[in-house]
Amino acid sequence: MAATLITRNLPKNPGPAGWNRLLPAAAPSQIVQGAITADWLIIGGGFAGLSAARRLAQLGGRDERIILLEAGRIGEGPAGRNSGFMIDLPHVLSSDDYAGNLGNDRTQLVLNRRAIEFALDAGDEYGLDDEIIAQSGKINGAATARGMAANIAYARHLDQLGEPYELLDEAAMRERCGTGYYRHGLYTPGTVMLHPAAYVRGLAEALANGAPRVQICEDSPVLGMDHSHGIWQAKMAEGSVSAPRVIMAMNGHVESFGFFKRRLVHLFLYASMTEALDSDAVRRLGGTPRWGVTPSDPIGSTIRRISGRSGDRIIVRNQSTYASSMEVPDRLAARKMAHHERCFAARFGMLTGTAMEYSWGGKLCLSLNDVPAFGEIEDGMFSACCQNGLGTARGTLSGMLAADLASGNLRDNHQSLHTMLAAPPPKKLPPEPLASIGASLTLAWREFRAGREL
Ligand SMILES: Cc1cc2nc3c(=O)[nH]c(=O)nc-3n(C[C@H](O)[C@H](O)[C@H](O)COP(=O)(O)OP(=O)(O)OC[C@H]3O[C@@H](n4cnc5c(N)ncnc54)[C@H](O)[C@@H]3O)c2cc1C
Repeated sequence: MAATLITRNLPKNPGPAGWNRLLPAAAPSQIVQGAITADWLIIGGGFAGLSAARRLAQLGGRDERIILLEAGRIGEGPAGRNSGFMIDLPHVLSSDDYAGNLGNDRTQLVLNRRAIEFALDAGDEYGLDDEIIAQSGKINGAATARGMAANIAYARHLDQLGEPYELLDEAAMRERCGTGYYRHGLYTPGTVMLHPAAYVRGLAEALANGAPRVQICEDSPVLGMDHSHGIWQAKMAEGSVSAPRVIMAMNGHVESFGFFKRRLVHLFLYASMTEALDSDAVRRLGGTPRWGVTPSDPIGSTIRRISGRSGDRIIVRNQSTYASSMEVPDRLAARKMAHHERCFAARFGMLTGTAMEYSWGGKLCLSLNDVPAFGEIEDGMFSACCQNGLGTARGTLSGMLAADLASGNLRDNHQSLHTMLAAPPPKKLPPEPLASIGASLTLAWREFRAGREL
């Protein structure tokens, strides 16, 4: 049967990808020209696409040809725009304290840890150092009584799960983070902290030079797909790639090809990164050189300090926009990013005069019932999309498992694959404009209620 799919829109991300700007410029991109054939085609060069490529390279014969197509440059998309928290624990964004249903959370823990293991192995194998990937844990910081109550409730949930944690008082928070803004903290050891752009670029580079070699073509947006006689053909402006099996790893943009219509929630999140602090500012800040704080209220601000080759910097992430069109007007994005200065000033009075060097936005894809868009969606076409709140871990997992599923390797990750395949489909959204109005009001109310956690 012949099928034609045409993309409705291509990815656009507001502002520069700050993390990627800290890295040396990439070599010119390789673009597909003419008609080429492959054994495997992967579309999307984020956590899911690169993990799928790594897994296929692990499973496949040396002669298999794997091609990955990315619309922009690796490290410039959402995978290089996030805060770099690869979290092992339950992280339900719609909850007041991240805790979900105990049974689901137990299952999710196992899946997240399988993803983390895969990422840590990749880091080891590809020589990525601890500035790029390190299992250093994270803190849920609370600045209000409500935040403290959320931390305590979450700690009780961790007790039930049998997970270790450490509660930190105001003085301990100041000792770690320099700022006296936080009244309470909950440290958990399992989170992996990434330099997200360096991680995805490190993966891409190693895969492109490894054996079997993965060919990575950037600046190659797929504009449409044809399916005929068991072969998928992806069409780009200057060429095409044909392969019998395709892994769709473009997160929310899978909807642009007509899949999971009105079942995916498209959000933009925003972040800013300071200029590098000089030695005097580092002394005034105090605290330890590297730490990561997620907000005790899931809608609050994520704050991170990095140090090393990229300099001493603080990264702030907060604010979101619901965007069913998958685009956000520049003026709205700029207004959202302007909040970062205020949030930074409130926490780091000792750094007055420090400027934000980069501010940006990026996409996140959720489903109302917190499930992935995963599995075989057409003959020979596999989806590894919709990572919900934890795209670094769940993107890694869904890419890896889509490769297992597509290559018929149902043995190695049998239980994880079974769990992913047993999930119901993403729940249908209410009709527009109800969905947009409802989402915008909910976000605004939760941001208001977060108070100083934001
Ligand atoms: C500011 C911010 C902070 C965040 N913080 C965190 C965090 O700390 N921890 C966490 O777990 N998650 C975080 N996230 C979310 C996380 O970045 C995403 O969930 C994750 O990147 C999803 O990975 P992915 O590989 O599925 O999709 P993506 O990273 O979005 O990769 C998909 C790729 O597909 C490409 N693509 C799309 N359409 C096409 C096409 N037609 N042709 C070719 N290529 C195409 C895109 O260009 C993109 O690069 C954050 C996101 C943002 C924006």
